[in-house]
Amino acid sequence: MSNALAPYRRLTIKIGSALLVDGKTGKLRTEWLAALAEDLAALKAQGISLVIVSSGAIALGRRLLNLDAKSLPLDQSQAAASAGQIALSQAWAEALGRHGIVTGQILLTPNITEERRYFLNARTTISTLLGLGAVPIINENDSVATAEIRYGDNDRLSARVATMIEADCLILLSDVDGLYTAPPAKDPNATHLPFVAAITPEIDAMAGGAASHLSRGGMTTKVEAGKIATQAGTAMIIAKGTETHPLRALSEGVRHTLFAPVETKAHARKRWIMGHLELVGSIHVDAGAARALLDGRSLLPIGVTRVTGDFDRGDAVAIFDPDGREIARGLATLGREEADSVKGKNSRAVSDLLGIGTRSELVHRDNMVVLMGLEAKV
Ligand code: GLU
Repeated sequence: MSNALAPYRRLTIKIGSALLVDGKTGKLRTEWLAALAEDLAALKAQGISLVIVSSGAIALGRRLLNLDAKSLPLDQSQAAASAGQIALSQAWAEALGRHGIVTGQILLTPNITEERRYFLNARTTISTLLGLGAVPIINENDSVATAEIRYGDNDRLSARVATMIEADCLILLSDVDGLYTAPPAKDPNATHLPFVAAITPEIDAMAGGAASHLSRGGMTTKVEAGKIATQAGTAMIIAKGTETHPLRALSEGVRHTLFAPVETKAHARKRWIMGHLELVGSIHVDAGAARALLDGRSLLPIGVTRVTGDFDRGDAVAIFDPDGREIARGLATLGREEADSVKGKNSRAVSDLLGIGTRSELVHRDNMVVLMGLEAKV
């Protein structure tokens, strides 16, 4: 059986409430979480970056506040989220802390993931945590999100998070082992689909199913998540997480559905830059330029402190931050000598030196692959 996780270096893993919280007692499934933490630590030890999107705040908070109505009014479910989120982050900090892994909590709402300024900032925080070896634990900020501005389900939230950090795969762990041709509980002839090449209207139609009582998303929100992820070049896996060690099981080939990412031209180009070029030079940049690159901007001469190697225009170069870490690779717009002569200079001085009309960036963002969390990201 093949290892479903083998191709991936950066994972976003969404954990549903029904896995973390016992439906009958409302208590945390501590042993299950401990086993999952072992799986996560094993992946991390292989150098894989992990971002967790964890549900369970409302489910845990219900018990803490003695709210047992089957469906809670909005104010009570927000109160439950508020109390439950503390228990949830504590549980994660303890479970991963046992493996020497530090966790960071980030609570998001759609205005953060959709407004560019907040988006960039949240993304920088997540990538900084990854760079520092921590595991970000993300949930929706349910206690303050309003009815109009909320995801409501963590399937779509996790897809946005995955695309935000350019994860190469989003794993949705839930109580189903993937997509079926029809809801299996209702249709005995339903068959399991191991692979979905593209989310067509037929696939949409297969997804009509109900959610379990603790979580909000059913198969519909999972397929919606699949659209967000795959369009941005992130693969998605739906797998059953109810048994212990669900990620280990995936690496041992347990049944799941894989949704193939859509390969965009830009994505293919970046993959090519990353994989097939010999690096013939290095460009060292200051802290401001390093931040700009991590935010998705081009490299300008003003942020360059040192140029080494021997490269011509169009050759591949590695870009290093002030601590000497490689943070990006890209194609240089100028050759070594020209690059050296413009380093530290502003755009005006650059055009004075090289002639008006010269492109002011030394490596354009379209020709650059940023490596976050210290490892290659295409
Ligand atoms: N954010 C919710 C919680 O933590 C869960 C949403 C979902 O189940 O998808 O309780």
